[in-house]
Formats: sequence, C-alpha cells, structure tokens
Amino acid sequence: MEFEKSKKAFDEAKKYIPGGVNSPVRAFGSVDIAPIFIEKAKGSKIYDIDGNEYIDYICSWGPLILGHSNEKLVNGIEDEFKKGTSYGLPTQIETKMAKKIVDAYPSVEKVRMVNSGTEATMSALRLARAYTKKKKIIKFEGCYHGHSDGLLVKSGSGTLTYGIPTSPGVNSTVIEDTIVCEYNNIDSVKKAFQDSDDIAAVIVEPVAGNMGVVEAKKEFLEELRKVTKEYNSLLIFDEVITGFRLSYSGAQGIYDINPDLTCFGKIIGGGLPVGAYGGKAEIMDMIAPLGGVYQAGTLSGNPLAMYMGYNTLEILENNKDIYDDLQEKAKKLEKGLNEHIEKLNIDVTINRVKAMICIFMSQGPVDSYSQVMKSDTDKYAIFFKEMLKQGILLPPAQFEGLFLSTAHTDCDIEKTIDAAGEAFKVAFR
Ligand code: PLP
Repeated sequence: MEFEKSKKAFDEAKKYIPGGVNSPVRAFGSVDIAPIFIEKAKGSKIYDIDGNEYIDYICSWGPLILGHSNEKLVNGIEDEFKKGTSYGLPTQIETKMAKKIVDAYPSVEKVRMVNSGTEATMSALRLARAYTKKKKIIKFEGCYHGHSDGLLVKSGSGTLTYGIPTSPGVNSTVIEDTIVCEYNNIDSVKKAFQDSDDIAAVIVEPVAGNMGVVEAKKEFLEELRKVTKEYNSLLIFDEVITGFRLSYSGAQGIYDINPDLTCFGKIIGGGLPVGAYGGKAEIMDMIAPLGGVYQAGTLSGNPLAMYMGYNTLEILENNKDIYDDLQEKAKKLEKGLNEHIEKLNIDVTINRVKAMICIFMSQGPVDSYSQVMKSDTDKYAIFFKEMLKQGILLPPAQFEGLFLSTAHTDCDIEKTIDAAGEAFKVAFR
C-alpha cells in the first residue's frame, strides 16, 4: 500500500492549518503515522488520494449510520441545493425535523437546532443554570461533551488521546464551577451534592463513547435521575453519539429514563453540520425569543442539514429492524475478535453496547475511567497500523469506539475479523 500522496498532502496542509487538520484526532498523532487524505467514499468503503480502499469504521465519527453517500439521501439533496443553501429565515423542514425528534423522545417536548454537539451541550448548560438559578455543573471523568470551556475539564476523546484532558486557556474560574465525578460511581455524585447546594445540572453520556465504549450501569443512571430530582438540579443526557444510534429513541429509550434535557448531534445531520438540544417545554421556553436565555445561530436549522437529517431519521423510523441488524453485525465482530483473543491468549477486551463497540488493549473488565486508562496505547497503535495495511480503517485512537453503518456487510465484518487475527499477532509479538 502506498501513502505518498497523503504524506505530501499532509506536509502541505501543515503549512497553513495548525497540525494540518481541522480536528485533532484526524492527525493520527497517537498512532504515529501521517493521516490518510480522503478522496471519496461510498457505502462502507472509503478511498484515500493514493487510491487505497478501506472498510471504514470511523464513518465520520458517528453521523453516517446509513453509510457513505447513501443514494436515497444524496439524490434528493441535489434538488434542495438548487433551491437555496441558507435563508436566515424559518423553513418548514425545521418544524418537521423538530417534530421527528419530539415524537421519538418522550422527554423532549421542544427542541432547538444548533450547528454542532459542542453548541448543544454548551447551550443546554446555560439553560440549566438559568432555570435552576444555580452555578455549578457535574460532569464525569472521560466523558467528552465538545470543547466549550466549562466542559473541557477531565474530558475524553481527542483530549485523552493527546493527554490534555483539561485545556490551557480554560480559566480557573470556569473550572471552579465544573465538578468532576467518577463514571459509574454514584457515591461520588452524592458526595458532590452533599458538599454543594449550587449544582445546576449533571451532564452525562448515557453510554460513554469517548473513553472507548463504557456502559453506564442502569442503577447508576437511575440514581442520577433520583439525586438530581432530590436536589432540584437538572439531568442532561448527552446523546450526541447514542441518539438514534443505540436505538431510535437513544439510550434513554433503552434505559427507560427521562432526562430533563437531551443533547443531539451527528446522526440528526446525516453528515452535515448539526446539533440540537431539547427537553420539557417549561424549560425550553426560557430560550430567546420567548425567554431571556440567549442562544442564536446564523446557520442554525440550515435547510440542507435539515434535509439530510430529516431523511436519515425517516429511513431509521421506517426500518426499525436496522437496529437489530446493526447489533447483529457488532455481535458477529465481537465474537470473531474474542475467538482470536482467546486463541492467542492476549490481554484484549472487547466492550460492546448494542452496536457500539470498542477494542481495549488491556485485561477486562473495562467499566471505569481508571480501567480505560490501563489500556496499552502503543499496542493499539501497532494494531491500528496493521489493520490499515490490510484495508481496515479503525479509529486512529484507543479512546474512540468503532462506528458501524447499515452499509457494512457480513463480508466486511468477516474481512475485518480475519485481518484482526494477523494484526493481534503483530501487536502482541
Ligand atoms: N458530545 C459527545 C458525546 C460527543 O461525542 C461529541 C463529539 O464527538 C460532542 C458532544 C461534540 O460534538 P461536535 O464535535 O459536533 O461539536
């Protein structure tokens, strides 16, 4: 496999873009090679500018649950594009989109569209503070909620990969209002509430997808619901990854928990930039123009993003067996990987929740941030490179999950399992 064109493109990009990329994990820093530059993608396959083909398990980090360039979506958007790209005035598809989300999530009575998951969580917290008239928030170690200041504390995803969980430039005064608790440890949350009566909200990824994949225990989420109610604080589910992925009604549908606010992103834009936050009308109506909580956006509810998102949801809603199929594929992958792991007798743990799956280079169980951090990132880097050579594109970082799509075939999964057998051997030589 040749990577010469990608290497050259990266050198050129580095001259003009910090680190040559517009989002850190794309730099392949933790796997210590130049990133591949992409030419095009279709279905489960992605093609770099050197002409190499890969089975893609990044899938744009989650939005592409229907695979790349899904024909039903792509064919329709051309007409939408010709009508106009942005108006700065309301369109009917925004209402249709909002209704789709409201119909799918009983906890959401009203929803506001924004442009990214970062904006969604940042705005939800502002709203929570205004509603409760309290200052502090609780987040969990290893959870990532985007890069707004107050949430960039002991964060996950690229911040873990690059060893900067709390970023320079985030003022200590901001950090003072962010309390960090331990994922799956309700006592750490109860203690925080006992120590402070000024906690506006608890924000949580109901299945953590930014320290690899770590399942929240059901009792943990149930207790979060109870304790936030008891202390008149809000519970915010960050379903930017899990929303419409874990099930059509997200993690909250599976765990049967009604948060006060929910944040969305990724899938609801079908591959175009989007985010949203929603919840009880009583809370949401505090946002301008009805209320005084200001939040706005030049491109919010962009008609092209709405088109892609709405039609993605339409397909998911009308084909609910998609979720069983995705889970079956993930199970097949899990089983195949585990067979290698057993046969080779190596310290690798596969975490899977429904179709969310992750490969940890350590002995299990991996159910907490501290366990996650025991994973051998050097071994993951070797494994990643060996997989890449065999045409399998995994997330270029240990702390990310694999993203499956409806376009991944059984044959893709079998090829991936075969390749992993070889790659494990090299990584554990
Ligand atoms: N919340 C979660 C759970 C995420 O995984 C992400 C991004 O990966 C975000 C929020 C931020 O979303 P965005 O990258 O669209 O700003």
